[in-house]
Amino acid sequence: MIETHAHLDFPQYNDDRGAVIERAVCSGISAIINVASSLKGSFSSAELAERHNCVYATCGIHPHDAKDANDNAMEKLKNLALLRKKIIAIGEVGLDFYRNLSPKDIQLGAFTRFVKLSKELKLPLILHCREASPSKNEATELIFKIMEENLKRPFIGVMHCFSGNEELLNRCLNSGLYVSYTCNITYKNADGLREVVKKTPMDRLLLETDSPFLSPQAKRGERNEPSNLKYLVEQIAEIHNIEEKEVESQTTQNAKKLFFNQERFLIGILFMPLPLAALWLFLP
Ligand SMILES: [Zn+2]
Ligand SMILES: [Zn+2]
Repeated sequence: MIETHAHLDFPQYNDDRGAVIERAVCSGISAIINVASSLKGSFSSAELAERHNCVYATCGIHPHDAKDANDNAMEKLKNLALLRKKIIAIGEVGLDFYRNLSPKDIQLGAFTRFVKLSKELKLPLILHCREASPSKNEATELIFKIMEENLKRPFIGVMHCFSGNEELLNRCLNSGLYVSYTCNITYKNADGLREVVKKTPMDRLLLETDSPFLSPQAKRGERNEPSNLKYLVEQIAEIHNIEEKEVESQTTQNAKKLFFNQERFLIGILFMPLPLAALWLFLP
């Protein structure tokens, strides 16, 4: 299994980070993508990936902190991504009009910069999209508009913590995006979301916990961790009426295709400026 979205660099894991990763491995997880949400977090995620074989990292700034995505920060993130082999995506980036912790225009500017960075570095996007209320679709519209203006289809990325309706699901699928679900699909009141999971083709679906957030129903109120991915697998197997093993193997295959695509990877190295490519080869 591949856990495609966790925040193990957060202080919630300061006392037992190693044990949490160990439990994940024992539960059958072969790779954890630790998703950065700030400039500082991008560096600590990269460090975490250096220390643990199974951990991979991303770089990016969450829309909450969009104001930090200035020229200097973007340059630092670009260099970080170029030099660390285990940085495999740009994220999490996007728009969040629910909490609106950064003004809208600042969020739009930052997201545009990250879309351009993902194109330049040929790295997939991990998208965060949250509307002001469930009946609105402004954030979604703007995310697609910015991607249409800057990228060619199919878009290479994932809509993380998917909780939209069927229309949004189809829009994501038609554009090429994967969708990933978290343990919130196990909640008692999530019937609507489970219907959407049912409509999601198994070859476009990814698993994530978004730890430390969104613990499964069985552990609600506790800190979440990657080893809880099994609850998500159980739920998806039930919804799709297939074996848990099949959920595990299909989602692993999907994650490998999106995040560990050797072909895209080699093209990336070929187009690196020569001094950088040389440096890259000798760094861990
Ligand atoms: Zn998010
Ligand atoms: Zn997240």
